[in-house]
Amino acid sequence: MTRSALITGITGQDGAYLARFLLDKGYKVFGLIARRSTPNLWRLEYLGIEREVELIEGDLADLSSMIRAIHVSKPREVYNLAAQSFVGTSWEQPILTAQVTGMGALHVLEAIRLTDPSIKFYQASTSEMFGLIQEERQNEKTPFYPRSPYGVSKLFGHWMTVNYRESFGIHACSGILFNHESPLRGIEFVTRKVTDAVARIKLGRQQKVYLGNIDAKRDWGFAGDYVEAMWLMLQQSDPDDYVVATGRTSSVRDMCKIAFEYVGLNYEDHVVIDPNLYRPAEVDILLGNPAKAKEKLGWEAKTTLEELIHMMVEADLARVRKEV
Ligand code: NDP
Ligand code: GDP
Repeated sequence: MTRSALITGITGQDGAYLARFLLDKGYKVFGLIARRSTPNLWRLEYLGIEREVELIEGDLADLSSMIRAIHVSKPREVYNLAAQSFVGTSWEQPILTAQVTGMGALHVLEAIRLTDPSIKFYQASTSEMFGLIQEERQNEKTPFYPRSPYGVSKLFGHWMTVNYRESFGIHACSGILFNHESPLRGIEFVTRKVTDAVARIKLGRQQKVYLGNIDAKRDWGFAGDYVEAMWLMLQQSDPDDYVVATGRTSSVRDMCKIAFEYVGLNYEDHVVIDPNLYRPAEVDILLGNPAKAKEKLGWEAKTTLEELIHMMVEADLARVRKEV
């Protein structure tokens, strides 16, 4: 029998990669799609799968949409990837972030509990929950200390996932994913902002790129690798929480160096620091310990930061060349 899955956030970076991954495994894939004035299907189109998925209109902030989406799709697995996912915006729109990123996760859990508690659930948790890190390498047992309304909202979703597992026996997993990027990353995130700028500078369309704290360090991986870990979590006999990371950390500065050097440029000639881009509270460094994911899921990151950034610069060069 064909397995079916429902993905919230299917129009986002991870939603698109996960949809392709599940389609390749023979799943029938449904996606929750929030109503926008202009449909936002560019990532599904980029992967050539926009006609292979079935889209259901609905909003994560609306419990009734979630119940309806589950009735329509009758999924065996639900992946909750929808969120207001940008840390910077979470200070501008903290209440919306709490409603969508935090309460939204509870809506999905509650819709599962009310309709069919045997549905398996994946929650897109984040290394931002570690925030002001309490341990040099963060694992599933490291205490949390979120530093943004986004991180706080995600922590609510994480604990609700644990609670619904413990209270109602739902096969609910929280994937604590460290930053992961790709050519489909939103332009507001620092990797894509830089690779897009590198392409524009190389092709003579702009001269400078303005950044904030380039000494911040992140454990960056490739989104295409990370969606497999999400799926693997739901294939285990027992639900659990897993850190998914590369186990390597690099600064924004290092990442800029890799991106600019790839096209024969020096980042110091083009990066300008804009103090307005500093955050009210910073997460200075994140470094994941993915040992449990390796041991229990047999999962490991395959793509190095260099390979990832080169792939993103290539994709942005191709995009910018097509612009008139
Ligand atoms: P994106 O920002 O690319 O995608 C977010 C998705 O959520 C989009 O499809 C967006 O729809 C949808 N969405 C936003 N608000 C609503 C709403 N009210 N109702 C329904 N859908 C909504 O995120 P990513 O793909 O990068 O990340 C996926 C998930 O993983 C997110 O929850 C993110 O917070 C989390 N995460 C991401 C990490 C990363 O490094 N990428 C790291 C750890 C966790 P639309 O396109 O219409 O705006
Ligand atoms: P985050 O880890 O989810 O916040 O991912 P981002 O890609 O948005 O930010 C990663 C790090 O890059 C953070 O420490 C930011 O402060 C830092 N950074 C420095 N300059 C910029 C910038 O111009 N844009 C963004 N988004 N981040 C920046």
